[in-house]
Amino acid sequence: MSKFWSPDVRELTPYVPGEQPRERLIKLNTNENPYPPAPGVEQVLRDYPVDHLRLYPDPDALALREALAREHGVEAEQVFVGNGSDEVLALAFQTFFRQPRPLLMPGITYSFYPVYCRLYDIAYRTVALDDHWQVPLDALSGDNGGVIFANPNAPTGHGHPREAIARLLARVTDSVVLIDEAYVDFGGESSVPLVAAHPNLLVVGTFSKSRSLAGLRIGYAIGSRELIEGLERVKNSFNSYPLDSLAIAAGVAALDDREHFDACREHVIATRERTRRRLVELGFEVLPSQTNFLLARHEGHDAGELFTGLRERGILVRHFNSEALHDFLRISIGTDDEMDSLIEALEALCRG
Ligand SMILES: *Cc1c(COP(=O)(O)O)cnc(C)c1O
Repeated sequence: MSKFWSPDVRELTPYVPGEQPRERLIKLNTNENPYPPAPGVEQVLRDYPVDHLRLYPDPDALALREALAREHGVEAEQVFVGNGSDEVLALAFQTFFRQPRPLLMPGITYSFYPVYCRLYDIAYRTVALDDHWQVPLDALSGDNGGVIFANPNAPTGHGHPREAIARLLARVTDSVVLIDEAYVDFGGESSVPLVAAHPNLLVVGTFSKSRSLAGLRIGYAIGSRELIEGLERVKNSFNSYPLDSLAIAAGVAALDDREHFDACREHVIATRERTRRRLVELGFEVLPSQTNFLLARHEGHDAGELFTGLRERGILVRHFNSEALHDFLRISIGTDDEMDSLIEALEALCRG
């Protein structure tokens, strides 16, 4: 605490990201992709004319927005890009949710959402997950200044099909519905096709998970022209150049390689299902997942102790300190070898 901080800053409780360890650990704690980005990305970085770094990047990142528009069957004017989807989300909170009525979100979802609410002084109301740890779409209604959730949800892993989202959008027409699709490529169903009929739908995506580019920081949003124009207004009042030249060029290259993309995500999905079966054999309850992580708990073992035991064995997973999730470990899907090491370590810990 410092007397030099603005009063509001003294009140903040920042988001705590998963640890980025300095020592070599099997890292299954922040849902990064275990496979490298598309080979075209390496090519772009190797061949990039360094002299171009003298110049500012394209403030509109048009090449990347056009590539994303082709990928998703929309116009470039319906695409917004930012420095990671966390930044896109922050700009969306400022653009759409700073208004008198409360923002609605599930009680368990990406924990950055309430952090942005406090930063931007946005009132919000949470809705409890249902008995199956699913986002209760029916309960996300009533007087609101917006609706936000991740689909598939994090850290629970369940995703609703597009038709269920369409039913939500049939009811909520007066405020922005923001769907965070960070994990959709691992078995979810994207709501982007609903954008054409719903001017209040904003779908947010990231290159950090399924495109293996967490280190490059590329996020995007797809929506109606009016929503994207609003985001541009706020972005251009804050930072004209959120994406650097390398990220723009490498992002285009990543989108260019459908084969690599499909092979990686299919491999992650297969490893996830194999890991899931082995965790169940060890006595874990494992929530169904359409993401690149599993949320699991064991009746006979304290999650905090398992976390510590794994850490001592060189394996890092995520343990949340919240009351609702205290029993659980969130385990990112790594390579098959990494997951073998995880299962071996858990076998030892559960026997011991
Ligand atoms: C990882 C994640 C993000 C952040 O992604 P970046 O693009 O790396 O900022 C956003 N939303 C959810 C639900 C995530 O899990």
